[in-house]
Amino acid sequence: MNLLYKSTRSEDVTVTASQAILKGLADDGGLFVPTSIPKLTIALSELAKLSYQETAFEVMRLFLTDFTDDELKNCINKAYDSKFDTEEIAPLVKADGAYYLELFHGSTIAFKDMALSILPHLLTTSARKNEVKNDIVILTATSGDTGKAALAGFADVEGTKIIVFYPKDGVSPIQEKQMVTQKGDNTYVVGIKGNFDDAQSGVKDMFNNKDLAKAMEEAGYQFSSANSINIGRLVPQIVYYVYAYSRLLANGQISNGEKMNVVVPTGNFGNILAAYYAKNMGLPIGKLICASNDNKVLYDFFKTGTYDRNRDFILTTSPSMDILISSNLERLIYRIAGGDATKTKDLMNALSSAGMYDITDDMKAELADFIGGYADEAKTASTIRDLYEKTGYVIDTHTAVAAAVYTDYVEATKDETKTVIASTASPYKFTRSVMEAIDGKYASMTDFELVDELSTIANVKVPQAIEDIRSAEVLHDTVCDTEKMQDTVETILKMK
Ligand SMILES: *Cc1c(COP(=O)(O)O)cnc(C)c1O
Repeated sequence: MNLLYKSTRSEDVTVTASQAILKGLADDGGLFVPTSIPKLTIALSELAKLSYQETAFEVMRLFLTDFTDDELKNCINKAYDSKFDTEEIAPLVKADGAYYLELFHGSTIAFKDMALSILPHLLTTSARKNEVKNDIVILTATSGDTGKAALAGFADVEGTKIIVFYPKDGVSPIQEKQMVTQKGDNTYVVGIKGNFDDAQSGVKDMFNNKDLAKAMEEAGYQFSSANSINIGRLVPQIVYYVYAYSRLLANGQISNGEKMNVVVPTGNFGNILAAYYAKNMGLPIGKLICASNDNKVLYDFFKTGTYDRNRDFILTTSPSMDILISSNLERLIYRIAGGDATKTKDLMNALSSAGMYDITDDMKAELADFIGGYADEAKTASTIRDLYEKTGYVIDTHTAVAAAVYTDYVEATKDETKTVIASTASPYKFTRSVMEAIDGKYASMTDFELVDELSTIANVKVPQAIEDIRSAEVLHDTVCDTEKMQDTVETILKMK
């Protein structure tokens, strides 16, 4: 059976999976969603025998029905290979009564690698299937993590070029170094003299520029997007929840059919939405616990049914969760509105005009499986320290937000359901915040001294991603004014 996709904001357009991947966003501004969520077709006991790659195939083939088995297997095998530093791809580590699903073993040591290592292959396969002749130019604005993961994913992928814009003075030194040392003849990294919003609106302007699109077409190019609203990023994320359950089963830590809870440190709502889709596929998931930092829009939403972004934007030690508009929540809204595109569109229009919306009581009732929680900065830091002192296991700041929320949840409910915490970044990516949480004495050390100290106290080898940037050569040094972003793109593509 062929599964089709439609926009969350209109009834009439349906596209295939490969077309949805190519387009990224629907023309009406909505997000592509499957017309129904397929059920797992393989028994859980059978799943427990499968490798990560085999699990990926069993899950993704149900969503990407216009891909042949060979096409999909080829994408999977190219993505989940020795770029990951463990054959398990996403190991499950037990510490202090919870199971940490380590999603940071890919090349940029954050969970974005789980989807961005396969998206380039899904995209080039989709281009071939739809007889797209142009080279695809991925334009990305980044505040740090997505840019590097997209660069690593698209580097040297035939038929693509990737151009990443980042705020020259708005990313951490480690994040900048990771990007400007990126290898690959098709990769371009540009610092802009502006902030992340300037980078993002500059990119949006280019997407919407009809003259530019025409000139690109004549030069044999077309734009596409690697951001988290692409269905080609969501589907690969469902896989690791199925895999986590199958590991618990294989290890005898859960019995067949017994429920597990999941806790997800959340920003744009992509990761936890994938868990929700997994539950809808029939995976025995109990509660979906959505963890926020001080930017607790989602916590308030689950509590009150009102989504309100009118508040101060707070900079925290978990920057990848510093976000007030969680784009992927639109896909959940669409589902709890019973697939009502008009209703979804009205709410999203209210969000962009008034910065807020209320859902109905009926919609709220559909959210019973979600629990919202949040952790402030002090609680996040003490969670890192306490877990380390108790077990020797070191987690990053984002994962610590989730761990803190989980502890509160267990205290409040006494729920003993086995629980998987999505561990979204290596502690080496946020070394300074992690080490200072463990002991204030680390404040005086340099970033790389802290890296070595972390390796000593955690007894974990420094990841290759960090070793690489210690001595790597800077390969990208382009900096431009915000108004010159399009000029820079045209120069890179030799269109002028
Ligand atoms: C992107 C990111 C998140 C948030 O994930 P969403 O899918 O946007 O909710 C959490 N932690 C880390 C380390 C991230 O990079």
